[in-house]
Amino acid sequence: MTDVLAYLETRADAWKAMLREMVEIESPSEDAVAVTRMAEWVADRVAPYATVKFFAGGAYGNHLRCNFKLKGAPRDRRILAVGHCDTVWPQGTLATMPFREEAGRIFGPGIFDMKGGISYFLMALEAMRELAIKPCASISLLLVSDEEIGSLSSRPVTEAESRNASLALLLEPAVGPEGRLKTARKGTGMYRLKVTGRAAHSGIDFAAGASAVSELAHQIGAISGLTNLDRGITVNPGVVRGGTKGNVVAAEAELLGDIRFWKTSDGEAVVRKLQRLKPRDRRCRIEVEASLNRPALERTKAVQRAFQHARRIAAELGIGLQEASVGGASDGNFIGALGVTVLDGLGAVGDGAHAVNEHLIANAMPQRASLLAGLMSRPLPVS
Ligand SMILES: [Zn+2]
Repeated sequence: MTDVLAYLETRADAWKAMLREMVEIESPSEDAVAVTRMAEWVADRVAPYATVKFFAGGAYGNHLRCNFKLKGAPRDRRILAVGHCDTVWPQGTLATMPFREEAGRIFGPGIFDMKGGISYFLMALEAMRELAIKPCASISLLLVSDEEIGSLSSRPVTEAESRNASLALLLEPAVGPEGRLKTARKGTGMYRLKVTGRAAHSGIDFAAGASAVSELAHQIGAISGLTNLDRGITVNPGVVRGGTKGNVVAAEAELLGDIRFWKTSDGEAVVRKLQRLKPRDRRCRIEVEASLNRPALERTKAVQRAFQHARRIAAELGIGLQEASVGGASDGNFIGALGVTVLDGLGAVGDGAHAVNEHLIANAMPQRASLLAGLMSRPLPVS
């Protein structure tokens, strides 16, 4: 892999120019036209050596899939790289957060999450083509438009595209300045609990009332009991609303929250327990809506094997690759749930996702893009 690394070290300026173009196409999730423009920029760039296809994103931008035409690519194996073109930054952010390089860091909206990761992938492909490195599988790239807002429109596309992949490479940011991969991600769920009681005047007729607020307070105690930090299960009571006036026994109250878990079966168990909650005051009624959004990305045997494979390639590049488990979910969660081996966190090395100090570390590109090239050219050893 040292030839790839040496080549990419000569390409730092070209890479920065490309990255700058990407960052300066602002692409907030809510702006379908802008996000599609970002995808079209990538499509134009790879068009000479890829077949590109757009999938309608409905209210969101279009999703893009590129199948690369690379010499000698085996047809019986498929590697899918996955990323997103949307960012959390509103249109106009560039005015206060321009693309700029300072003391070895490059700043800009969406640069870390995740335009940097897309740029690494494009550099890896460039190196493979320039050096005529044979891929170990057919290579595809999927870029979706709505990851930052839950992947509602892209989820079916992501699932259909990844189903026949032997390995999915997630271009999401790496963890920490040392660039750890993400070999486990928590799954997520959401819930809403609505309590209906009976209103009454708190002075004249207190006992005739059934307080939805008191009932909800009791339920919050029960719900907090579902959190199990040792197992990594959290059930967060996030938002509480209820009541109308200080002197009225509250007729209504509700609670919104989220559920996080390392094992999807733990998340499912929490959903069942929430659905079974019973009112302590029988005069109150409880309605629960609870469901899982993203299954957990579990650190399976196959994921561990893929990580060891990545670690060996990284060692040749001078990277002591480490791994991490993280609480946030990505599209890798959907893909892993299909039984596809996922390596996540292969994107930008830097910091400040969704924050004003969002940046990547400039000199990490040659190593990290080489790692991607290695994963696309060295077959995973069979166990
Ligand atoms: Zn991301």
